[in-house]
Amino acid sequence: MIANIQDNIARVEERITAACLRNGRRREDVKLVAVSKTHPAELVRAAYASGVRDFGENRVQEANPKCQALTDLGATWHMLGHLQSNKAGAARELFHWVHSVDSLRLAERLAQAANPGDARLPVLIEVNLGEETSKAGVRGGEVAALVEQIAPLASLELRGLMVIPPYSESPEDVRPYFRKLRALALEIESRNLPNVSMSELSMGMSNDFEVAIEEGATIVRVGTAIFGSR
Ligand SMILES: *Cc1c(COP(=O)(O)O)cnc(C)c1O
Repeated sequence: MIANIQDNIARVEERITAACLRNGRRREDVKLVAVSKTHPAELVRAAYASGVRDFGENRVQEANPKCQALTDLGATWHMLGHLQSNKAGAARELFHWVHSVDSLRLAERLAQAANPGDARLPVLIEVNLGEETSKAGVRGGEVAALVEQIAPLASLELRGLMVIPPYSESPEDVRPYFRKLRALALEIESRNLPNVSMSELSMGMSNDFEVAIEEGATIVRVGTAIFGSR
């Protein structure tokens, strides 16, 4: 199992590097987040030993004991899943990034949960570009308004956008969503709002991270291709 992870990471690394090269991008401009949800702490440790420094989880309850068991690593933890406002305090204690901000209420709770002297929390707005009613995220047309509301929250650092496209077997089917997310980020960036950066695009998972890199992803979130199926 653990030997597998080392091989899997080597393969994912090769694919990321190749996708960067094909598109004139630098490897260091794309952050690999290894999504460890449902997998035990020992496997996170194995991935860390293979050089991964960023890990993603999608539930506070599951992440809590895992992060505690691994504090010695000093890894960077990313919250990727839907977050209820009442878990904002716990999330702020565990995570260094939140990719799934989808309401002002959640952003305000995350901001209020800061302790004096805390570094600002990097956050991304999750966009629901598939207009899927079952999914979390803000509609494309509502992102700009939410950006303006979040910008004044001083303990947060708005860094960009995140998308989970509708599921498809074929990576080419999701390319238009990645392209749309990038266009949306560029449009918001062009407004030059104070305290707003749109430099991060969190997009691409095991099935489609190469296409996402081609379309400008700066963060890819890879679970299955590293840890195996869940
Ligand atoms: C589970 C998950 C991933 C990883 O998905 P894989 O297909 O296993 O790579 C990425 N992003 C989010 C938000 C997830 O919940």
